[in-house]
Amino acid sequence: MSKRRIVYEGKAKILYEGPEPGTLIQYFKDDTTAFDAQKKAVLDGKGVLNNRISEFIMNQLSAIGIPTHFIRRLNMREQLIRKVEIIPLEVVVRNIAAGSLSTRLGMPEGQQLPRPLVEFYYKSDALHDPMVSEEHIAAFGWATPQEYDDIIALALRVNDYMSGLFAGAGIRLVDFKIEFGRYFENDHDMPRIMLADEISPDSCRLWDYKTGEKLDKDRFRRDLGGVTEAYAEVARRLGIIRESGDTDNVVSFTGGSK
Ligand code: UDP
Repeated sequence: MSKRRIVYEGKAKILYEGPEPGTLIQYFKDDTTAFDAQKKAVLDGKGVLNNRISEFIMNQLSAIGIPTHFIRRLNMREQLIRKVEIIPLEVVVRNIAAGSLSTRLGMPEGQQLPRPLVEFYYKSDALHDPMVSEEHIAAFGWATPQEYDDIIALALRVNDYMSGLFAGAGIRLVDFKIEFGRYFENDHDMPRIMLADEISPDSCRLWDYKTGEKLDKDRFRRDLGGVTEAYAEVARRLGIIRESGDTDNVVSFTGGSK
């Protein structure tokens, strides 16, 4: 692994050159950061869980016709993906008020929104990912008008599907962040927009339907403890792993199933 060329290293993942042109290997680290990486920790087994959870969700979305960069999982921490040109936007979909929406608009956390909201943030660590509108996206050419329409339609389909998927597991999908990329099948064609990056409890807010217990990265942001255990609980409820609670079991289970 160390001999492979690193294409990009982020806070929670590393992208390596893939085995064939047009592919990359996405490696999930245990590193966790929040608040512009001011808060950091290494959470044993988190990368293994996110690799499995993201694989599962991307596969489910593919099955309903949503194009994704996911090709196949390679091992406990790595997946083979299509190389895409990342559109520099974080697309957030919200069903219930929480996090920055609650802070910005003074809306109590947990309030149901009248309809799903789609928001855009410009991907820039230096600028702390500022919120942007359709106007900025068009004026600065971050996405074409057609791509913008496709992104909204895909984001809402992902939201509908995932809301149902998680509801079936007794989990409320409060909000989530996704990213999209352009995939150039061959040089002459128009690129296709596809879902990229990851979908995991690092990028979603997930609340237990009955108790309201947080099963996502807010456990880390807000020092609630039991972060990996909560991610394992999500994986167990989705039927991805059999054990829950005991991280050792989770890691050994996922390790044994590659
Ligand atoms: N999110 C993310 N990466 C980011 C910012 C947000 O994955 O850099 C996710 C976050 O986990 C939540 C949703 O996007 O599910 C909305 O986040 P919000 O704008 O409320 O920001 P936060 O409260 O995380 O600062």
